[in-house]
Amino acid sequence: MKHLVAGWFYILAAAILALAAYFTGAAAGFAVLLFVLLFGLILMRQVPSEDGDHGEPLVTLPIATAPDPMSVIRATIDAMDLPVFVLGDTAEFVAQNRAAVQVFDEVAVGVHVSARWRSPSILDMIRETMDTGVQNQLEHSERLPSERTYIVQVSRLQLEGQSGGTAYYLLVFRDISELRRLDRMRSDFVANASHELRTPLASLRGFIETMQGPARDDPKSRERFLGIMLDQANRMSRLVDDLLSLSRLELKAHMAPSEMVDLVPLIGHVCDSLAPLADDLDVELRLDLADAPLRVLGDRDELVQVFENLVENACKYGQEGKIVEVSLRHDPVHGIEFSVKDKGPGIPAEHVPRLTERFYRVNVEDSRSKKGTGLGLAIVKHILTRHRARLIVRSEIGKGSEFTVRF
Ligand code: ADP
Repeated sequence: MKHLVAGWFYILAAAILALAAYFTGAAAGFAVLLFVLLFGLILMRQVPSEDGDHGEPLVTLPIATAPDPMSVIRATIDAMDLPVFVLGDTAEFVAQNRAAVQVFDEVAVGVHVSARWRSPSILDMIRETMDTGVQNQLEHSERLPSERTYIVQVSRLQLEGQSGGTAYYLLVFRDISELRRLDRMRSDFVANASHELRTPLASLRGFIETMQGPARDDPKSRERFLGIMLDQANRMSRLVDDLLSLSRLELKAHMAPSEMVDLVPLIGHVCDSLAPLADDLDVELRLDLADAPLRVLGDRDELVQVFENLVENACKYGQEGKIVEVSLRHDPVHGIEFSVKDKGPGIPAEHVPRLTERFYRVNVEDSRSKKGTGLGLAIVKHILTRHRARLIVRSEIGKGSEFTVRF
């Protein structure tokens, strides 16, 4: 549009001036004006001739600046954090990104994909995508160097303007090992929790049936059975309480506690409340608490739960050692440290790393007979994680165990 108006302007102006120059006899001026006339005509020719007025002529890049497709592909896959390989049309390696080098090491360019992955299902999948052009994916597990599970996806790269010539394929690996592990943990947890609840329920049902039938008229047996039933009902309610505690803690996992808590009186109070249990078990509780206040950012009730669990475990499982030592001090190197030490049978080394797993027990019958649920140390670990504190377990067979909390 701009060219059209300018063109007409030049033609009109030149025509008027040419007439003026002609009548005044200025030949040079006449020549200049003819040139301006010509310029106006040239401008008008640049207006597109198709229907409508499309404005500016198209700008095209010089050929030398158009990027090479392979370098664009390389830059793109390098920006991705999933391992990616580019394959050529005979399934040979053409390129790999940095993530692929880190996870699978370097592969040689030009080598067939089967040199790295022999799995027939992966090779069939690649072949199918090469034949049909349709994207495919499958789940694939590797054992070495460590057990991992991937979703492997292959898709044809559709380069713009390309018809015929070399086709490229992207082979992408998405690591789902962590997802699978969490799935397994969740289903194990549900199975364990159901199993733990089913045992006391089955026992309750058995006793109810006996009391309705054979023991209907036997007051002595009924009295004994009612006592057992109460124990089983208590066991179920301990389990449900612990499960609820765990799920509440999971909800709060990312919220740091904000209250200032002095641990000295808190631990004194925990030991006072456990004194009757220690007496029953014939265990002497020895306290060595700092004189000055030792404060941490924490949640009072949760910290009580931690110390109660650890001291109670030491009394129950270290009962035969007779003495349980509880200490709280400020270590110049490690900061505030709580420790509970028993002289019981100790814990075999292979069990120590797993003690904080849900329902993990060194001896299930022993734990049940001591009113354990197998969730105590899992709860302790959750609370300490929220408090940015660590649990350190040291144990020696025949000598006893020490559980330390380092804030
Ligand atoms: P539980 O409810 O069974 O006590 P915990 O999670 O508190 O569950 O403890 C898990 C297991 O760790 C216990 O069953 C027991 O086998 C072992 N354990 C914990 N504390 C001690 C200890 N002081 N001495 C020996 N074994 C212990």
